[in-house]
Formats: sequence, C-alpha cells, structure tokens
Amino acid sequence: MAELTPMSLAVQEDWQRRSLGSIWHPCTQMARAAKLPPLPIARGEGAWLFDHQGQRYFDACSSWWVNLFGHSDAGLNAAIKAQLDTLPHVMLAGCTHEPAVRLAERLSARTGGALGHVCFGSDGASAVEIALKQSFHSWRNRGRGDKREFVCLKNGYHGETIGALAVTDVAIFRDAYDPLLMRAHIVESPDSRLNNEAPALAAMRALLEARHAHIAAVIVEPLIQGAAGMVMHEPGYLRCLRALCSEFEVHLIADEIAVGCGRTGTFFAWEQVQASWPDFLLMSKGITGGTLALSLVLTTDEVYQAFWSEDVSRGFLHSHSYTGNALACAAANAVLDRFDAGQLARNREQAALLAEAFEPLADDARIAGLRQRGMVLAFDVIDAGAGFAERFHLAARTHELLIRPIGHTVYLMPPYLIDAPTAQFLFEAVRATLNEVLSHAN
Ligand SMILES: *Cc1c(COP(=O)(O)O)cnc(C)c1O
Repeated sequence: MAELTPMSLAVQEDWQRRSLGSIWHPCTQMARAAKLPPLPIARGEGAWLFDHQGQRYFDACSSWWVNLFGHSDAGLNAAIKAQLDTLPHVMLAGCTHEPAVRLAERLSARTGGALGHVCFGSDGASAVEIALKQSFHSWRNRGRGDKREFVCLKNGYHGETIGALAVTDVAIFRDAYDPLLMRAHIVESPDSRLNNEAPALAAMRALLEARHAHIAAVIVEPLIQGAAGMVMHEPGYLRCLRALCSEFEVHLIADEIAVGCGRTGTFFAWEQVQASWPDFLLMSKGITGGTLALSLVLTTDEVYQAFWSEDVSRGFLHSHSYTGNALACAAANAVLDRFDAGQLARNREQAALLAEAFEPLADDARIAGLRQRGMVLAFDVIDAGAGFAERFHLAARTHELLIRPIGHTVYLMPPYLIDAPTAQFLFEAVRATLNEVLSHAN
C-alpha cells in the first residue's frame, strides 16, 4: 500500500471539495454529501479501485452493476482503442457500421432468432422508454390503440426518466414526481422468501382478465428485482407469467438491464425460464463491461412487422444522437467474445466459490434470507437500526470493501473475477464489517 502522506491527503480533499462545488451527484442528497463527501477514485485495476492516497477498495457492486471483467480490462480496452482509430461514431440513420450490425446479429442469435430486431438506446432508462413506446405503437398500428396501459411489479425498478419512473415502484425515486407520471398498474411481486408466487400470479391474472383490452404490456425484472433489495423469484413464476401474457394478448417486457450478461448463471436470465421468449428484452449495464453507455431493445418479428408500411408515421422514428455508438458496440462485441470463449462456465465456478465462502453466514442469528443466484449474493440484517446502509458502507471501506447496502439488505454483485482467496476475503470483510456495525448499533 502506498504511504499516506499529507500531500496525497491534500490531493484527495481537493478533489472532494471541487466535486462538491461543481457536480450534482446521482442518487445523492447533496446536503448530506457535504458532510459525507464522495470518495475520489484515481484508478481502477481488476476488481480494485484506488484512491489518491493509494488505499484500495474491492468493487463489490461492480460500479452499479455494470462492470463484468474488472476495471481497465486489457481486452476491452484494446477493442475500444482499435475502434477509436477506425470509426468512433457515425449516425445510424441512413448509415450503418460493422460493430453495430455484428452486435445485433450476435444478440439475436443468442435468442435463436426469436428476438431478431434490435433498437439501440444510450442507457437503461432509454431502453425502457423505447420498449414502452414500441409496445403501444405496435398495438396502435394494428388498430388496437386502446391498449395503452402498462403493468409493473411492486417494488420494481426500471429507471428514472418520466416514462421509466411511471413503471417504477420505488417511493424514494418516484414520489416527488408522481403528479407528472403516467398511471401504471402495480401488481404484487413474487419473492422466494415469502413463497407467494401463487397469489402474485393470481393477482396478475385478475388484472389481465379485467383490463387486457386496455393493457399494452407487463414489464418485469426476470429472476431478481435488483433495486428492491435483490429480491429473488423462481423461473416458474416467469413461465406462468409468459403464459398469462400470451393468453390475454399483452406484451411481456423482460428488463434484463441488470440481470443480463451472465449475472444469473445464463447469458440471458430468461434462458432459465424454459418458455417462449418475451416480446421485448432490454439490455444495458454489463453489455459494455462497464466501459461505455449503451442499451439495446430486442424484439420479435411480429412487433417489427406492425411498423412495416409506406406510411412514415407508422414507423418507429425514435432516435438518440449516439444511437448505436461504434465505440460502445465494439466494447459490447468484445464482451460477447468472452462469453463465446466459455465465460459462463467460469461464472458457475465463481458462484460456487462465493456460496461456499458465505455458507457460515447461514447460521448467523443476526441475518436472514441468505440467498444467491449466480453472481449475486444477498442477505438481510435483522436489527439493522437507523442509517444502517450508510454505516455499513463507511465501515466496509476500512476493510478495503466498496459496498452499498439497500436498506437492511447487504449484497455482493462483484466483477467476474472471483477465486477462492478473493471469496474468502469478501466473506471476512463482510463479517468484520457486520461485527463492527452491529456492535455499535444498539
Ligand atoms: C439500472 C436499471 C435501469 C436503468 O438503467 P440506467 O442506465 O440507470 O438508466 C433499468 N432497469 C433495471 C432493472 C436496472 O437495474
């Protein structure tokens, strides 16, 4: 570890001060940030982030779930640099380019061609907007303009633009804007801890039965509701949901922005469902391995054909300036190369190492709901006390761990770089942090 000099501390504090003076940080009440300033990160290498004092932190949340292979990955960097010297960007209206075409073809092939048409966005929320608009517009083009309502699940999260917030049920992000939002139906969500899949499906059936003539689509986060606190459900729920949506002629939108790219053990979480594909599948976050902003909406030929016409207004004219950015597509292709070269097998081994390391926590009376799906592990702290997430986050930093609990739920969603010593380090850092935070709590 680098020496802690007064000089490096001064550099650190200078970036904090200037950041607070100029940047409106995301997901942050700035009045609190003034007392608890952001951590200036100087560089990243593998799973580790380094501050200006040379202190290191294991990035246990993959920088908001985007990083797959670590920071400054040589393979991804080389792909981006090569593209940078060839063609960084060109508009995708009236032009096309190899990285975008290859990426669309490869993702479509991973659905066996079922989702063979790909639209690009710039981030997760824009992919959600695209899917909502495409669903409604495709019904409208088919003479069913009455189908303009959307259904989401309780505590679901789909992003924070006005359209995406309308199908998001997280009060802290949503409440202030509620007067501005389109009304969506919010239905009970499945949660394996509660064993409530049957009533959740019954509630969905009742709603679809009553309103299907007015409903365009149901949007869900397959297998894991991330922002809800890593709430997990079984593939069987999704199999039944797929059948319900088909029965009532309602689109199903699978938001795989967080769970795609191998996070849950298969490339798409949906592969575990063993049912026909959703009508829309959304990707972002991990698709560029945490390097560049990009999102994709994959959809069916049926949806695509609903827009096929000589009439321009029946087309899907949605665009963003950076639609199909070539650098981001090159990064995404390099990510797919890794999966073509056996990444899923490595993920399964790494998930098993995590499970083994954290097994002792199952007997810890201070926690409940220890759960894991692929490279996501979570548990709930029983008597967490007020301000737990922040206290845990700060204490973890002193154990070289960067982690952001959601409420009383502690989760790890690490880069795919876990070996046995790393899994053991993570367990010990989490346990030490727990001991520290809970002994001070009560
Ligand atoms: C992060 C996330 C989004 C929003 O993506 P942004 O890039 O932050 O706009 C949407 N859906 C899910 C499931 C997410 O996890």
